[in-house]
Amino acid sequence: MKIHEYQGKEILRRYGVAVPRGFPCFSVDEAVDAAKKLGGPVWVVKAQIHAGGRGKGGGVKLARSLDEVRRNASAILGMQLVTHQTGPQGQKVKRLLIEEGADIRKELYVGMVVDRATQRVALMASSEGGMDIEEVAAHTPEKIHKVFIDPATGLKDAEADDVAVKIGVPAASVPAARSSLQGLYKAFWECDASLAEINPLILTGDGRVVALDAKMNFDSNALFRHPDIVALRDLDEEDPAEVEASKYDLSYIQLDGDIGCLVNGAGLAMATMDVIKLYGGEPANFLDVGGGATADKVTEAFKIMLRNPKLAAILVNIFGGIMRCDVIAEGVVTASRAVGLKVPLVVRMKGTNEELGKKILADSGLPIIAADTMADAAQRVVAAAKR
Ligand code: ADP
Ligand code: MG
Repeated sequence: MKIHEYQGKEILRRYGVAVPRGFPCFSVDEAVDAAKKLGGPVWVVKAQIHAGGRGKGGGVKLARSLDEVRRNASAILGMQLVTHQTGPQGQKVKRLLIEEGADIRKELYVGMVVDRATQRVALMASSEGGMDIEEVAAHTPEKIHKVFIDPATGLKDAEADDVAVKIGVPAASVPAARSSLQGLYKAFWECDASLAEINPLILTGDGRVVALDAKMNFDSNALFRHPDIVALRDLDEEDPAEVEASKYDLSYIQLDGDIGCLVNGAGLAMATMDVIKLYGGEPANFLDVGGGATADKVTEAFKIMLRNPKLAAILVNIFGGIMRCDVIAEGVVTASRAVGLKVPLVVRMKGTNEELGKKILADSGLPIIAADTMADAAQRVVAAAKR
């Protein structure tokens, strides 16, 4: 789960990381009021969307007067902000952060992720912070310093200081950098984050260390123990089809292709997408209906897949283990009728009550294309999608 910059900064503030004063705003008038409260003389108007690269996309603007705050806020609020992380369609800006302008002497990068190889939280830090960290990682990886943090000790003083010095923090500011890094680690750990990034972490003219940006993602499997974080969820920033699917406990991920997939089991769903690609097709989605797929759930799954205007054909690939094939067949027939299915439907089922399931599909009178093996099913659906 992702949150906005201003929410991330609020969390970091609680863990002792210095952040600029600022207020989230939902209208231009609110933005001007917020700027008055902050007092100036320099403000920054920042688009709040769940994507980075806002600065380059025109979503972060400096203002030197209340008039300029008003102009920038009107320009950014409601804009379709396109960044390298939003895709070409961009993301509509519905919230702003108005914060005090900082006196930047140097922009640094610090970020934390879970490193699978060492099974530890990895701290990455670089002197080359700001808007081009992807370039630094690609072309000068030696400028990114890493620490794999021992969970028994947390980020030790000496480790934090060593990294701070390596990224060019002057001696006088090392204690401030240490508390920012340790605060970031503690926030990451206690909130069950999967990513926590401050880019840029700045050195100010008077030697302070301040987080000018904040990005936090959380492990959804741990959200049950963080109701306060769940409350920060902004459904406007999420794919509407994925939000709908989560209501029915369906794991659905929208993709770029035109062949809808309805499968039980995440592993079989991945394999199904692979086989579709092997035969020259492109999956429109990942969809795992899980073990307890009822006719209702299958109907909802069909409806969600059919919201996608690109959809050209559907492949249902079911292994009947605990779930019997006849139950799935009933579900598929009911769902096809309920949604008035117009695209070709290929069904492959194996396992418990397979013959009965196939009979239900054949007797339904619906134009369902039956397939026996996965290869057969994939070839048929790819051909059907091309028609
Ligand atoms: P993004 O990473 O999405 O582009 P940032 O929050 O990092 O957005 O802002 C982009 C750039 O804008 C920063 O690298 C920094 O140079 C500048 N900036 C952001 N916030 C402030 C601020 N409060 N004061 C001064 N400059 C800022
Ligand atoms: Mg940034």
